[in-house]
Amino acid sequence: MEVRTTACPLDCPDGCTLEVKVEGGKLVSIDGGNANPLTAGFICSKVRDFGGHVYGRARLSHPAVRTGPKGSGEFRRASWDEALDLVAKELTRVRDGSGGEGILPLSYGGSNGKLTQDGHDALLFGRLGATVLERTVCAVATGAAAEGLYGKMAGVAFDDYEHAKCVVLWGANPSSTGIHFVPLMKRAQAAGAKLVVVDPRRIPLAKKADLHVPIRPGTDLVLALALMRYAFENDLADRDFLREHTTGWETLEARAAEWTVERAAELCGLEPSMIETFARLYAESSPSVVRCGWGLERNRNGGSAAAAVLGLPAVLGHFGVRGGGYTMSNSSIWGLDSAAAIGAPPETTRRLNMNRTGRALLEYRDPPIELAFVYNHNPLATLPNQELVRKGLEREDLFTVVFEQVMTDTARYADVLLPATTFLEHEDLGTAYGGYALQDVHPVIDRVGEARSNAEVFAELCERVGVARPEDARNEREHRERLLAGTPWSDGLRSALDEGGAAEPPYGNRPVQFADVFPNTPDSKVHLVPEDLDEASAKGMYVYLEDPGSETFPLALLSPSNSRTISSTLGQLHDHEEPLFMHPADAAQRGLTDGELVRVWNTLGEVLCPVSATEELRPGVVALAKGLWSHNTRNGRTANALAPDTVSDVGGSACFNDARVQVARA
Ligand code: SF4
Repeated sequence: MEVRTTACPLDCPDGCTLEVKVEGGKLVSIDGGNANPLTAGFICSKVRDFGGHVYGRARLSHPAVRTGPKGSGEFRRASWDEALDLVAKELTRVRDGSGGEGILPLSYGGSNGKLTQDGHDALLFGRLGATVLERTVCAVATGAAAEGLYGKMAGVAFDDYEHAKCVVLWGANPSSTGIHFVPLMKRAQAAGAKLVVVDPRRIPLAKKADLHVPIRPGTDLVLALALMRYAFENDLADRDFLREHTTGWETLEARAAEWTVERAAELCGLEPSMIETFARLYAESSPSVVRCGWGLERNRNGGSAAAAVLGLPAVLGHFGVRGGGYTMSNSSIWGLDSAAAIGAPPETTRRLNMNRTGRALLEYRDPPIELAFVYNHNPLATLPNQELVRKGLEREDLFTVVFEQVMTDTARYADVLLPATTFLEHEDLGTAYGGYALQDVHPVIDRVGEARSNAEVFAELCERVGVARPEDARNEREHRERLLAGTPWSDGLRSALDEGGAAEPPYGNRPVQFADVFPNTPDSKVHLVPEDLDEASAKGMYVYLEDPGSETFPLALLSPSNSRTISSTLGQLHDHEEPLFMHPADAAQRGLTDGELVRVWNTLGEVLCPVSATEELRPGVVALAKGLWSHNTRNGRTANALAPDTVSDVGGSACFNDARVQVARA
């Protein structure tokens, strides 16, 4: 038995180092390694049980070609040669016929490393002139806000939370995603930190919080503006800091002015005294830190909400001390641009916000989408307006390629199926977005069946459609070299990775904001009202957009992450029925008893599942887990069938939490 070290690149904030026990090239077990200090020693059960994914019944082990009707999942085995020939022929046919924009690459965070996305795939689709996919399901509104305000300044390290006197956890549930935050939070509380949790649900950490703020979905913006107004009014704002280190604070103060505590309380569904307590606790504690998550961006006000929450430490001047400031995503601190490093052409063709994929598949003309190439992605499980996506995939005149690790709901609609390697079988480079670690991902087990890596398949397709060039990187290793060479810290980075498997940024793993790191904006100031974002949002930044609920569809549907899947990844291993969670008062009002089958519906679709009454939700809010597969509900539809394909005010993020529904006995 051998123990091999690698890292987990999956879509999770933590970025664990892994120690993988291997025998005869086969995975025996996975445990935590020590190279990443944040995650030293333990990992989540999802990846501990990853063997079920690698060797399970759903694993794809050879190429296949469809034999039955679309969606039936009936295929015959094919050789790589036959399958790639067919795909290359179709890519060429569409490019030479109606034009490259008739090709739609559909990819997302399924593999998530720096070498498995925006590498040879970007060369292939860029050179074919395919439609450009904007990956907007998650983290786009928050990303735009963090970029606009701070130029994505490095965040407060979770290790430094123990220095804080007040921690605000806003729209994040680390107990499900980012488990390494939980013991660090416990340590912070033991050292005297007060914890405030802003979340419509009583998540596990809310039960341990000093203050749980059970906000109505979609009103985070209003709460943050009310906190600001309270600070300005009560001489709690740090005007010296605002004058010296920010721009746009007068505009922000003016836009926050309409949100009195009372008005905000009514809209947010909170007691005014709770908002005042929160405002005082956050303002008067030092250091104070905000952990901003992604829950607050999943609605029409998402970009402004994220900007307002991230603006709080600037208004209060909570910077310059260890344990003070904010943490958002740290994924871009390394400045690694995979597509630029591999030499992908500039994106000049038609662009698609992926939240509107269903519409694109059904409605695009000049040219219509004739070929969809799905990789690192399970659109049927992750995209909003699920019924439109399904109808699009059912099109007889759409040629669909699915390059996947396992048989997903989407893979069943493929014309050609290509088997992909997992992160245990190929090279990659992983960046965590909660911590700082940059880590090498190594192939530590033998490949399953005939699975191939992304770089291999896309490089081969470049050859077959005649767009390969002699100067192209030949494999992941060469792409990695070019990627590292493109950073300002390339030498240090390379040696740190080669020696220890993980690298830390030059300012260390625990930078103090406004002492070690500053905004990466042109003037190094915080831009509280970034001009471009202000202009791009329909009514201007920080303007609250009304709730989409109605008398017919009064319940706000949340689709929060769960502890068994990573977004939708690993969904084949989670095969039991999922309930709709609902407050007992809402259940009683509808005469529903715990466990009975209900119909959840709106104008977009319908889901059949059991109901589970819980006081962990506020009345008026229901929840059905995110990332479910068709086998998790009675009618094969999930929360995404009820989610609109509208996008947030800033950034164009998905608005899953704007789904408004009705529920009745089925
Ligand atoms: S999913 Fe997250 S917690 Fe689990 S092993 Fe990967 S990085 Fe660690």
